[in-house]
Amino acid sequence: MPSIGLMGGTFDPIHLGHLVAADAARHALGLERVIFVPAGQPPHKAGRDITPAEHRFAMTLLATLDHPAFEVSRAELDRPAPSYTIDTLRQFRAAHPDADLWFITGADAILEILTWREPQELLAHARFVAATRPGYPLRRLQAVQEALGPASRERIRILEVPALAIASRDLRERVRTGRPIRYLVPREVEAYIHKMGLYRESAAAGGAAPAVRP
Ligand code: NAP
Repeated sequence: MPSIGLMGGTFDPIHLGHLVAADAARHALGLERVIFVPAGQPPHKAGRDITPAEHRFAMTLLATLDHPAFEVSRAELDRPAPSYTIDTLRQFRAAHPDADLWFITGADAILEILTWREPQELLAHARFVAATRPGYPLRRLQAVQEALGPASRERIRILEVPALAIASRDLRERVRTGRPIRYLVPREVEAYIHKMGLYRESAAAGGAAPAVRP
């Protein structure tokens, strides 16, 4: 049975913490591949300034190019908004009926899983990996596991990843204030951010589309 990891996130921008978490999950769970699924329009971020999805997709592609087990999906970009995870899981389940599916994302995101669309259905389609940084208080995650009941409790695994001390919000702020992001994101992502002018004060509304302008 093929085992596939779906790495869900806004990736605004993708950073080394995400890449280390994906590789740690691949290794710990024996995943054949990890498919990064950049959120198209995350349902919980409607009305908030997020970078256009095509930029986030391009950065995710650049960041994962050199890993043979990493791929990037356009599933949530090519579907009408908002991007519900349940729709993504149904899409991947239909394409891989026999696969062992794991949805990997941040622990803070999983804390809210009871508010996502069709939480029990989500857990029926895939098991979840909550990636945390060291020192992350596990009590709230355990409470979510309890609230889901005995059948679902075992379907959320916790994975501690030291590199998750890196945070997208901090990277955006670093660029905005002219501080370095080198060694926190892949070099290609750093170059892309600077070349496209992302996260600068004037790009606060999300920057331009990734095309050459006259
Ligand atoms: P978020 O609320 O921006 O992030 C919450 C925390 O998780 C942040 O610390 C974030 O760090 C971290 N994180 C996010 N993705 C991660 C990943 N793949 N690996 C490790 N850490 C990660 O969360 P989000 O990125 O917007 O959403 C996460 C996933 O949950 C997405 O796939 C989204 O579509 C899904 N989601 C679905 C629903 C729904 O279906 N109703 C609702 C909410 C979220 P960084 O900021 O550094 O990434």
